[in-house]
Amino acid sequence: MSLASLPNQASPNILVVDDNPENLSVALTFLSAKQFEMAVATDGASALESLQMVTPQLILLDVMLPDISGFELCKQLKTDPSLSETPVIFMTALDEPKYKVQGFAAGGADYVTKPLERLELLARIDNHLRIRQQATMLQTANRLLKQANQTLQLRNRTVTENNRKLQQLVHIDGLTQVGNRRCFDERLNQEWLRLRRERRPLSLILFDIDYFKAYNDRYGHPAGDSCLAQIAQTVKHLLKRPGDLLTRYGGEEFAVILPNVDAAGALHVADRIQTEIARLAIHHESSSISPYVTVSQGISTCMPLVSLPPAKLIQSADQALYLAKQQGRNQSIHRSQANLDNYSASPSSVKADQSEGLE
Ligand SMILES: [Mg+2]
Repeated sequence: MSLASLPNQASPNILVVDDNPENLSVALTFLSAKQFEMAVATDGASALESLQMVTPQLILLDVMLPDISGFELCKQLKTDPSLSETPVIFMTALDEPKYKVQGFAAGGADYVTKPLERLELLARIDNHLRIRQQATMLQTANRLLKQANQTLQLRNRTVTENNRKLQQLVHIDGLTQVGNRRCFDERLNQEWLRLRRERRPLSLILFDIDYFKAYNDRYGHPAGDSCLAQIAQTVKHLLKRPGDLLTRYGGEEFAVILPNVDAAGALHVADRIQTEIARLAIHHESSSISPYVTVSQGISTCMPLVSLPPAKLIQSADQALYLAKQQGRNQSIHRSQANLDNYSASPSSVKADQSEGLE
């Protein structure tokens, strides 16, 4: 048998299970004073039937039922996910400790002995309803926290990804799609420090398109831009080692950082740059030296030292490039470390120095 009392949404719903009409009546009298909503069952089967229709906040459960022991019924209820958290208070005349222990072992939250004491029963019910309510609030708070955490992690991932893209954009030259000057500065410093520790050589090539102003004047700036982009992409693709880096140094000037590459290796790369650009055969009718676009290259190699700032390597390559221009363009000139040291004191002595030239 099951029945629900006055519907009251705000009141906690309690299922009372007892086969003794007198006990039932006492329990209901106590509970009605507190305006609980109540459902009643007189055996295990009707209790289960009632639980199909109502989900109580608490169950008062007699231990001795005609069809099943209250302990067994409680064990069953605890296996149902929708009821496993519902507090069960056993009501029984069996007040020996071993029965109470059995009740807790079955999943009971509490134990009251008959005859029922009104104040004690209501106090225990209040207590377990409050504990249950706090547990529910904690679960909700935990769920919200987990959701907030997931959202935060997702946002963090997006921010990290955006930062990565931004970092990439900050280091890329928009026109040629190779590294820009900032990229060059950062990488040169990094490699300088690394190779100084490892006592390995560092080479730098600065190359510049010959008669580029005349090219722009003759073919227009869009053609000039396209020429820069073609050359940049061609050189970028001929650099095979992961550490090698091509950057646009400024205007029509490019820089190639070659970590752990000695003078011979750098000259070999410069040769390939010259060859590949010749292979592009970009027409340049305003060039005084060739019907096609050519480049001049200044190369410098050194062993990074504490006493030698990276700027000296750039200065030396730049002076070599100046010489290559002066000596007729479309050629590569290399500076060794001995030259670099000599020049560090007096950059203006460049023209007097003997430099190794390659064509
Ligand atoms: Mg009974």
